[in-house]
Amino acid sequence: VPDLRLTFMDRHLKTNRPAGLILVNATDFLNAGLALLFAKNVTSRDAKLAIVSIQTSVELLAKFRLARDKALSAIIRGNQLPRGSLTKAAQAGDFRTIGYSECVKEISKQGEITEKDIEVIGRLQNLRNALVHFAASIDIADVRINTAWILVRVPAMFAAGEDRDIGEFQNHRSFLDSDNFSSLINFGPYRDDAVDVAAENLGSEDIFRCWECENDSISLRTSETYYCYCCGLTAGSE
Ligand SMILES: [Zn+2]
Repeated sequence: VPDLRLTFMDRHLKTNRPAGLILVNATDFLNAGLALLFAKNVTSRDAKLAIVSIQTSVELLAKFRLARDKALSAIIRGNQLPRGSLTKAAQAGDFRTIGYSECVKEISKQGEITEKDIEVIGRLQNLRNALVHFAASIDIADVRINTAWILVRVPAMFAAGEDRDIGEFQNHRSFLDSDNFSSLINFGPYRDDAVDVAAENLGSEDIFRCWECENDSISLRTSETYYCYCCGLTAGSE
């Protein structure tokens, strides 16, 4: 069995190293957060840390998409490129990147992001801010559900993007550890929301039952490729 996660990462590390490095970090924060949040004996303290970690990964994935689609300069504040090696400057933190809201605004100019998507993702930011500053105790069931709603949308918008239209994205195992992949795609609220998001997506022509995760969340896209909003399966329609 090929290591799909490595393939996805390696491809980006080879073709656009700074963007690839952002992707590696995004998946680390995402997997660390999900492992905490979906652990059997999760405490309220763990859940707070999980939200901060997942929110960080969402921001990084948004930056990944911009840095990949355009160039690293697209996420640099003031578009001022450092002299010399971009990768070295990036690793040394020699420049400031734009904020998350600016990233989302840029990405939404490329289409395919609905008002609802932006609203749901904004909720994670609000939740993170509320938790970090004011929350004493939290409702773990609620946090799991809100996170699931966000994670139905984020891979499609930020990680896969146009890869869905060339059938190369494979599935969410390309950036989720296998335990996290299975916790997420077997979580009821996540599966239900994936069905709704597939139907609402502007790129969907028709919806079918996914042959991998058996959820009614695989969309035949206008590009004639299939993309499942639950397990991330991407395939050509031939
Ligand atoms: Zn699926």
